[in-house]
Amino acid sequence: MNARAERVANHELLKQVNAALVYRLIDNQGPISRVDIAQISALAPASVTNITRQLMEHGLIKEVALQASTGGRPAISLTTEQAAFLFISCRLGREELQCSLMDLSGTIHQHSVTQLQRHDAEGIIVALSQAISQCLHSTKLGQHIIAIAITMAGLVDPETGTVLYSPNHQIANLELAEELRSLANLPVYIGNDTRALALAETYLGAAKGCQDFILVSIHHGTGAGIISNGQLLLGKNRNVGEIGHIQIDPFGDQCHCGNFGCLETLVANKAIVSQTKALLERGHNSRLDKDNLSIDIICKAALEDDPIATQIIRQTGNHLGRVLAIMVNLFNPEKILLAGEIVQSAPVLFPALLQQIQRQSLPNFNRELQLEKAHFQGQGTMGGYALIKRALHANDLLQQIMQQIDDKQ
Ligand SMILES: [Zn+2]
Repeated sequence: MNARAERVANHELLKQVNAALVYRLIDNQGPISRVDIAQISALAPASVTNITRQLMEHGLIKEVALQASTGGRPAISLTTEQAAFLFISCRLGREELQCSLMDLSGTIHQHSVTQLQRHDAEGIIVALSQAISQCLHSTKLGQHIIAIAITMAGLVDPETGTVLYSPNHQIANLELAEELRSLANLPVYIGNDTRALALAETYLGAAKGCQDFILVSIHHGTGAGIISNGQLLLGKNRNVGEIGHIQIDPFGDQCHCGNFGCLETLVANKAIVSQTKALLERGHNSRLDKDNLSIDIICKAALEDDPIATQIIRQTGNHLGRVLAIMVNLFNPEKILLAGEIVQSAPVLFPALLQQIQRQSLPNFNRELQLEKAHFQGQGTMGGYALIKRALHANDLLQQIMQQIDDKQ
């Protein structure tokens, strides 16, 4: 590239970055006036006028008139347009595929659940393609679909859209985003489900406005999403928070990762059920039926003071609490959110967790720590919402949407 071409390209990139900055400000703080945008962003008022005009021409933002509290002329402010922009969010679970058609406010317009028949790459691609196609066909005239998001357990490379490792399906090294992009000629975003849900909690959930917080999710496995200084921690391989593989018991059961006694072998729904069953088989007194156990039943029994269920939930709290204490020492979060069926036992579980955290982390770090249930429970497709929102705020998707709209006209 010659010097002039390079200058033009840099100028164009700067314009795009500024557009994303203005969009993000309006999305996070709107309704907001142009004057305030210029002040907060340190952009020249003329630039703000140009950028907001461009965003309005593409229908991404709109003007609203706010009546000043002192009376007089209403002030014109800007907000983002959310209902007009739809996307498809899929959560690839262990046994089922959830697929939601959502808009940028997080409202779900349509939702489907499909049982997965096959767990190999071809089977997974077929299931995803069918669910996405159905969603695409059900959109109404004038609705604009901007992108597709897919979240799943395991390790993924969000930049290339490649699955690196899946604990549930044989899809390692599958270039999933590339496989699906051609379906509708839409951008495809892929992410780890727990990490994406952590982001969703910051946008719409229980961690709104939190700069430092950790989401811990307990289902078939145990994982965490760490938000530090307002950013999702990703690390070298773009995946941080595999707390399920911290060793708790060197002589414990073997984990699917190959190691022994990982947290996940003790604190995950299946592990909790099998520990309960083992205690019942030894003949301990309980109203639980060893042949009819589930995490929901155990949580309910713990709340009703059943001795075995209470013991199991406390023990779960002790194991998990030790790992949370490590997390508190490492990351000093202001809040830890817990997601999973296990939160039904919160009155029994949380005191055990807090006791371990208080014993094993620095008092300065744990004194004001808040431990709460996550806002999104069993709403897996909200993770995809966060991936779309992040892409929109980071310029990439914003430019693609404007291009999509220009191409249509
Ligand atoms: Zn492991």
